[in-house]
Amino acid sequence: DLSLGSWTGRRARMSPDRVAVAYGDREWTYADLHERTGRVAAALAGLGVGPADRVAYLGPNHPAFLETLFGTARLGATFVPLNWRLAVPELVHILRDSGARVLVAGADQEPAATRLRELLDIRTVLVGAAYEGLLAAAGAPPEATVDGTAPCLILYTSGTTGRPKGAVLTHDNVTWNCLNLLLDVDLAADEVTLVVAPMFHVAALNQTVLPTLLKGGRVLLVPSFDPQRCLELIARHRVTYLFGVPTMFRAMTRAPGWPTADLSSVRSAICGGAPVPVAVIADYQARGVTFMQGYGLTEASPGVLMLRREYSASKAGAAGTPVFFGDVRLVRPDGRPAAPGEPGEILVRGPTVMAGYWGLAAETARTVTADGWLHTGDVGVADEEGFVTVRDRTKDVIISGGENIYPAEVEDALYRHPAVAECAVIGVPDAHWGEVGRAVVVARTGAEPEPAELLDFLADRIARFKVPKSVVFTDVLPRTASGKVVKSDLRARFGPGR
Ligand code: AMP
Ligand code: MG
Repeated sequence: DLSLGSWTGRRARMSPDRVAVAYGDREWTYADLHERTGRVAAALAGLGVGPADRVAYLGPNHPAFLETLFGTARLGATFVPLNWRLAVPELVHILRDSGARVLVAGADQEPAATRLRELLDIRTVLVGAAYEGLLAAAGAPPEATVDGTAPCLILYTSGTTGRPKGAVLTHDNVTWNCLNLLLDVDLAADEVTLVVAPMFHVAALNQTVLPTLLKGGRVLLVPSFDPQRCLELIARHRVTYLFGVPTMFRAMTRAPGWPTADLSSVRSAICGGAPVPVAVIADYQARGVTFMQGYGLTEASPGVLMLRREYSASKAGAAGTPVFFGDVRLVRPDGRPAAPGEPGEILVRGPTVMAGYWGLAAETARTVTADGWLHTGDVGVADEEGFVTVRDRTKDVIISGGENIYPAEVEDALYRHPAVAECAVIGVPDAHWGEVGRAVVVARTGAEPEPAELLDFLADRIARFKVPKSVVFTDVLPRTASGKVVKSDLRARFGPGR
């Protein structure tokens, strides 16, 4: 059994007394983690979960997230982590689409969990008394041997079609990604990994938490990001490794404690998930921190490119070279390989490329070619030595504070407003968030609504982080002959400064 479900047992055999997880002032050893995940597996089996089922988790970073992940994996079932900032209708879509049988929800998620239980045929378990009660009553976990090619995770990412789709990652996908990360970053058994990015995103889970646990290190889970507190935690716990999106790393440099922060314990900091400003890299390097850049995407589990330690200064700004078990090609729009200096779409092939989108064979075939190349929709340029810099995107997505916002999804919601005749959502640069959304709206004749009204309307339907920060009105949207809105024209007209 090479599945994720076997990890806690293997670790409990090798290093039972080492601390695996720390949260607040509590710690769980590998023996504790194994014991509790066994109880979770037994409890889930008692709720009817079997190898063919999905179990969802809704809530901020907490040890119960990891217990549920490993417990689910031990049954051979599939874990579906949910972004707790999504609006209820968005969660309903994901839970329906994945067909999750059980939802484990953080203690602070009670209102959403209650709504979801009313709307769906799903069992909900709240972390706290209900969850602990189930664990206490659980017997021995059922024996299961899980194949590495079985689905381990379904991670929902939106798309240009506007409907979130589930990227299916197998146990093997996750394992190979962790091995790539361990080879790239040299994590050690005495690693202290700070987890401030949310674990429902692939990077926090697969680039920080799981490789650390595979190696026998310690993960320090933090439920929400606060830049000043982050600096304090690094010093207090002698953090050696952390990952964050550019917005987080930048915010830390602006926290009051930055000038005197003790970062001396940090051996590796990795930034990725969105374009990384060179100014942020320079701020950390000036403080002696090895600041690496990683590039990847959910569909690749996610690691694709890494700027390793020895090049972190000389190639600062580049996303690096391919991960060990992964091959990358840059392809021009005409299908030919891009020469050094020439932009091309980034394609990746290897053992971390997803099994496919859940229940969407045609969508999968459009994204992953028959011979295994994943089309990322990102554009990169390689230098003469093969170091790739990520330059642009061909897919219509706005990345704001590391969260992806698919304009199609926002536009769908906006079109439901009676005063909206036409609309398009574009990204505009923002110093803090990287990019923020701006809605360009053509109002129905005589019905120009207040921007605030449109934004409130959206906030009821989609997650707050997807709601545009501004609205501009215009008379007509520029369109191609085939009727597609020309977003580049809109960005030129309504972009920065408006
Ligand atoms: P996600 O769907 O959340 O996994 O986001 C993946 C996307 O984030 C990629 O397709 C890129 O567009 C973007 N991204 C990730 N890492 C980087 C990076 N280092 N530089 C630029 N863009 C990045
Ligand atoms: Mg992202």
